[in-house]
Amino acid sequence: MTKTQIHKFGGASVKDAPAIQNLAVILRNRLRNNFVIVVSAMGKTTNHLESILSLRLEKKDYSQNSTILKSFHLDICRALFSEGHIIFPKIENYFIQLHHELDKPVSKDNYDEYYDRIIGFGELLSSRIVMEYLCSQNALVLWQDARELIITDSDFRFAKVNWGKTRKNCQSQLKPKLDQFPVLTQGFIGADSVGRPTTLGREGSDFTAAILAASLDAGSVTIWKDVPGVLNADPKIFGNTRLFSELDYQQAAEMTFYGASVIHPKTIKPLANSGIPLFVRSFLNPDEPGTKIYSRAKAEQVPTIVLKKDQILVSFKVIDFAFIEEKHIHQVYEQLQGLKLRVNMLQTSAITISIVIDSQLFKLEQLLGQLNSHFEIRYNEGLELLTVLHPDDDSIPKLLEGYEVLLEQSTRNTVQIVRRIK
Ligand code: ASP
Ligand code: MG
Repeated sequence: MTKTQIHKFGGASVKDAPAIQNLAVILRNRLRNNFVIVVSAMGKTTNHLESILSLRLEKKDYSQNSTILKSFHLDICRALFSEGHIIFPKIENYFIQLHHELDKPVSKDNYDEYYDRIIGFGELLSSRIVMEYLCSQNALVLWQDARELIITDSDFRFAKVNWGKTRKNCQSQLKPKLDQFPVLTQGFIGADSVGRPTTLGREGSDFTAAILAASLDAGSVTIWKDVPGVLNADPKIFGNTRLFSELDYQQAAEMTFYGASVIHPKTIKPLANSGIPLFVRSFLNPDEPGTKIYSRAKAEQVPTIVLKKDQILVSFKVIDFAFIEEKHIHQVYEQLQGLKLRVNMLQTSAITISIVIDSQLFKLEQLLGQLNSHFEIRYNEGLELLTVLHPDDDSIPKLLEGYEVLLEQSTRNTVQIVRRIK
């Protein structure tokens, strides 16, 4: 029996009509049974839906934004399908449903749940369009609602997978379909145990591919990207990058932990646990082999740069002339956890705790509100966190030309620097 292959296509690979035609060319000679295609929302759709949500929350008019989003999808369909194709009423229908959801009341209290009901429309639209397009190209592909497979808890926007239930669904519902046909589904979305839509965190479609792979005992996962594979730095920011032809799971996981955006950080673990190889390949050069991530890779230790933008450095200074103790760290972490804020870097000195976090809507304000009776708090926004793994002698000075350093930390293999343009 052939093992299942999972192929994931992100927003950039379905961003317009030519991109979808290219996807169909990539799949043309690969499609078979036991083949799962996972797609994200098209281009920047998820960001557009987030803007609509913010307007809705502020009780402002979002109709223009939603018209633009609808035209964006309809224009793609006009380029791919002939007039009168079934996709057109389907798109209309999704937008009717979207507006119906948006008409329901929202407040800061139910925002996360509300968000998950809205944000998944991007994936629903794109998966319908791609499925219909593949079918129009004589490839019979079944459409599957991922919310019927991926079962999560009710931690909206950051839902945790119920692995047992998800596996059961994949084995009982998906496998019989896959025995006969390729199946196309959505990344990023799931449902809780009572069927309410949930999401796995932004950029979570890679993780969906890994969840399905583990639950189906798949043979491999391939993520198609607009870069040649996993590189030692982001080629959109740094020059002279090098492609890793192989990486072991540990190395790849470490890079994603520090913020390498080429793969979602949760993707590696389920694959490593099941020994399923992950290929990262370019949809622009689909004949190139890209990067293979697996357990026996010959790990090369080249300087590897990970840059996280839009960071905030917050320092908490104790106010009662005491020194930092465990209880202070605990106080800070407790609040961070409540706000679902992850610490990207931590440093403590005699009287201050400094943390670096991602900039996120309303969160900083809430954090300051909760802790300002215990600490004197200062913060700097608009910073960059640079992590260099296996630095060599000249990698760091070069990266700091024209920058001011606000915080620095190094271990034998890793240097982390918070920087700001001078
Ligand atoms: N569309 C979702 C996002 O942009 C999920 C993904 O792209 O992986 O966050
Ligand atoms: Mg996306």
